[in-house]
Amino acid sequence: MSIIINWQYNIGHICTRQQCELGLGEKVAFRWISARQERIDYTFSDLDRESNRFANVLQSLGFAAGDILFTFLPKSPEQFFSFLGVLKLQVICGTLFSNFGDDALVDRLVDAKAKGIVTKKSFLKKIMRVRDQIPSLKYIIVTDIEEHLSADTLSYPALMREASANFIAPPTSPNTPSVLHYTSGSTGKPKGVLHVHRSILHQSRTASEVLTLNESDIYWCTADQGWVTGTSYGIIGPWSLGVTQIHYGGGYDAKLWFDLLQGEAVSVWYTAPTALRMLMREDVKLYKGYELNALRHIFSVGEPLNPEVITWARTTLGKDIYDTWFQTETGGIMITNRPGLVIKLGSMGTPLDGIDPAIIADDGELLENNIQGNLCLKTGWPSMFVTYLNNESAYNSKLKNGYYYTGDTAVRDDDGYYWFKGRSDDVINTAGHLISPFEVESALLEIEEVAESGVIGAPDELLYEKIVAFVQLHKQFSWSRELEVKIRLHISNRASSIATPQEIIIVDGVPKNKSGKIMRRVLKARYLGQDAGDISTLED
Ligand code: AMP
Repeated sequence: MSIIINWQYNIGHICTRQQCELGLGEKVAFRWISARQERIDYTFSDLDRESNRFANVLQSLGFAAGDILFTFLPKSPEQFFSFLGVLKLQVICGTLFSNFGDDALVDRLVDAKAKGIVTKKSFLKKIMRVRDQIPSLKYIIVTDIEEHLSADTLSYPALMREASANFIAPPTSPNTPSVLHYTSGSTGKPKGVLHVHRSILHQSRTASEVLTLNESDIYWCTADQGWVTGTSYGIIGPWSLGVTQIHYGGGYDAKLWFDLLQGEAVSVWYTAPTALRMLMREDVKLYKGYELNALRHIFSVGEPLNPEVITWARTTLGKDIYDTWFQTETGGIMITNRPGLVIKLGSMGTPLDGIDPAIIADDGELLENNIQGNLCLKTGWPSMFVTYLNNESAYNSKLKNGYYYTGDTAVRDDDGYYWFKGRSDDVINTAGHLISPFEVESALLEIEEVAESGVIGAPDELLYEKIVAFVQLHKQFSWSRELEVKIRLHISNRASSIATPQEIIIVDGVPKNKSGKIMRRVLKARYLGQDAGDISTLED
């Protein structure tokens, strides 16, 4: 059955109203499990009503199609209601990771000219600190205050109490803008990856074809809604298929996670390699006594999935883990292992039908099997991003001869399997989060004692890559434990806690080329004790 009825592509509508019209109104859409283990079930009718209310709230505040609103929330029911309500009104929904610091917030909200933000009381201080820098921001809607604080800092419960539960999403074309996620590059500010409602075709298809979701599943996706996996596969894909999800508001806790997998009878679980490696490090006794009979499949995304983890899952859990590859710009899974396909340990699997990757050399030559090059995708898949907001030149620079350059390097073997090799730029992947070395370097330079800095990603057994910062201090300062704490706090507050370096190395100078660009390649080679290659452009 096609998910598109009467040419209505609206993601908010398809994930809620349409499920009710298909007879699933009283089915549980998600079981909310708070960090304190309280449980509340929300049906598809609840999801429809609450998202309708939120669409009406926004409309009454003057929001209209094409405006941009961000959610800046931890996982919570309000995250789902507001995301779907925003989309119903054809407003664009940006999602922000709740750990973001001041600079990270300002960069994104200013670039997008955000008109509104939905947040929690405990994050208000952060927003108020930077508010003056975001002139476009008209409304701050706070999910956990009972009364409005001012004319523009409003109580979500109070607004929702007044709003009608009826809203009909306007007919929405496949090309109507929908979701905005920011992604980090190795230079410059983060780029706003803009998607359109058409993406639901691919997200729904892959939720069914790869994740094998069907109406009888209980599905758990651990990703935060601040990232693409959290929206494509924690909201859109599963709910477009009427699947019941569990959403858990707490963090990593091995025993609790196993209690959830068993107790909630989770049948399909989508998580990330760092979490799986953390589980692998736990004492095997922890898993004794669990019967994960309902669990049919485990999937992983975000970083390379090392063979040891798959082997561990086979021996400890008696299950395979299927590695899937995609990125913010692709909007959905492109290359993947999946049930029915023989897993080659360490490979990302094969492309889906209709997805046409190529391995291309820097000079544009299409490469044969078994030769490493740039991983590219023939343009035109349904969930392809449509631009980097306000940065058409960056978008165009990623497109050549009908291919989109993903920024990853890979190899295709003779059986058509793809093997991830690394990034073609300096972007760091730590625990599945892309971090811009430039953002960390900029934050470091704001610190009075720091004269120069260079930041690299270095291999790490748990995180895949750790962040290593090389710091040169101004002559009058010396290294101390206090300075280290100051640096860590500063980066956490300005960028995010996940951007905080695992290692800080004090150096006498940071290598730069003759035009003043930091030579991270040289720093990395020195750190790893390798040959730095051609250093003829190094500054004297
Ligand atoms: P993001 O856009 O933040 O979702 O990050 C996407 C990037 O994460 C990709 O371009 C890869 O570098 C990395 N990535 C995602 N999935 C995988 C995977 N299965 N194996 C290796 N790297 C991955």
